[in-house]
Amino acid sequence: MTVDPFAKGGLHQAEAILKAHGVDAYFRSMAARTGDSHAVIDGRKVMLAGSNDYLGLSTHPAVIEAAVNAARRLGTSAGGSRALSGTLDLHGELEERIAAFLGQEAAVVTTTGFQANLALSALLGRSDIAFLDARVHASLLEAARLGWGRVRRYRHLDTAHLRELLAAAPDDAGRLVVTDGMFSMDGDVADLRALRDAADDFGAKLIVDAAHDMGVLGNRGAGLAEHCEVEDGLDLITATFSKAFASIGGVLAGPAGNVHYLRSNARSILFSAALPPASAAAALAALTVVETEPERRTRTLDLAEGLHNGLRTLGFDTRPSTTPIVPVRFADLAAGGAFWAALFRAGVFTNLVAAPAIPGGGAMLRLTLTANHDETHLATVLEAFDTAGRRLGVPRGPDLPPVRLTRGDGRRAGRR
Ligand code: PMP
Repeated sequence: MTVDPFAKGGLHQAEAILKAHGVDAYFRSMAARTGDSHAVIDGRKVMLAGSNDYLGLSTHPAVIEAAVNAARRLGTSAGGSRALSGTLDLHGELEERIAAFLGQEAAVVTTTGFQANLALSALLGRSDIAFLDARVHASLLEAARLGWGRVRRYRHLDTAHLRELLAAAPDDAGRLVVTDGMFSMDGDVADLRALRDAADDFGAKLIVDAAHDMGVLGNRGAGLAEHCEVEDGLDLITATFSKAFASIGGVLAGPAGNVHYLRSNARSILFSAALPPASAAAALAALTVVETEPERRTRTLDLAEGLHNGLRTLGFDTRPSTTPIVPVRFADLAAGGAFWAALFRAGVFTNLVAAPAIPGGGAMLRLTLTANHDETHLATVLEAFDTAGRRLGVPRGPDLPPVRLTRGDGRRAGRR
C-alpha cells in the first residue's frame, strides 16, 4: 500500500466534504474592503462578521497614513534579520511603547505572532517540561514540539489537573506553564490568577499568549493580564499585531532578562527577516488609537454582548465564550456548512471552523463584530441567523441567561 503524504485530512478534507455539499467557505478572495468592515466577494458586498480586526483599525486613516509614510521613508522591506541589518528605529520605538503598554519591562518585536510563539522552543532544554492548556493555539503547541523538552497537556482551564501534572514532574525539570489568554476559537478566558498561584507553588514560569485579548480586554485595553491584575506576575506575554492592532508582527514582553535571552537565542527571530517598516508603523499608530480612543473597545464589547444575547434569544448557544469571539456549534460539518452558506447568501460572511482547529469533531461558526460595525449591522446578522434557523433548524441549546462579558471596565464577569 502506498501512502500519500499530501492526503492526510485536516482542512483539505473538510474542504472536500463541504464542496460535495456545494459549500465554498475557505480561501474566499476579497476584491475590496470598506471602512465599515465589509468586503467585496464575487462582486457582492458582504459584511465581515468573522474578522480579527476587532477595533476596525485596518481602515483607520491614521493607521493607513502611518504605514504609507513609513514605506515612503524607509522602503518596503526591513532588508534583513533583526540581529544583522534589519533593525529599524521603528522597531525600538514599538518595543518600548508596547512594553510600557503591557506593563512589562522590555519587549522584542518579531515578524509574526506565530514566530513570537515559536521562539518559546528556545526555552525547552532536554530536561524541561512545557505544561500546555489542552486548547492552546497551534503555534504554542508547535513551539513545544520543536523544543527538546517534554510536553504535558492539562485539561482545558483545569488548574487542578495542571497542579497534578506539575506535582508529578521530576525536581530537576524546568517547568513552563503556557496558555492562551482569550482562547481563539471558543472565546473563553484563562484564570490567570489561579495559573499564577499554581505556577508559583511549583516553581514554574507562566507564559500567556495575549493574541486576542491585547487591545480588547482590560480597562486600558492591555488585555486579560490587566483584567486579572497579574501584569506584574507574568514571566512572558506573547502577542500579535495581526488582530486588534490591524497590522502583522508579533511581540514577546516581560522581564528584560527573559526578553533579551529570547531575542538572541530564538531561531524564529534570528533566522527570519524583520518586520517591514509599514507594518511596524501601522502597529505603532494602532497603539496610539488603542490608547486614545477607548470608545472603540467599548463599542466592540457592546456589540459582542448584543450578538451573544441576540443569538441566545433566538435559541443559539454561544457558550463557553464571554468575549467578542462568539462561537455557535453544529453537530457536523455538513450542518455547519449549510448554515454558513445561508448566512453568506444573506450577505453575512462568518468563519466556518472544523477539525483540527476545534477538538471533538463537529463544526462551529465563529463570529466577531468590529468597532466599525453598528447596531444596524448587528440586527442584520441576527436576522440572517433567524431566517436560516427557521429554514435549516436551530441547533437548539438550553435557555441561557444573558452573557456577562469579560471586559475590564468594572462590569467584569465576576472576579475569580
Ligand atoms: N496566537 C493566537 C492565539 C492566535 O490566534 C494567532 C493567530 N491566529 C497567533 C498566535 C499567531 O499570530 P499571527 O497571525 O501574528 O501569526
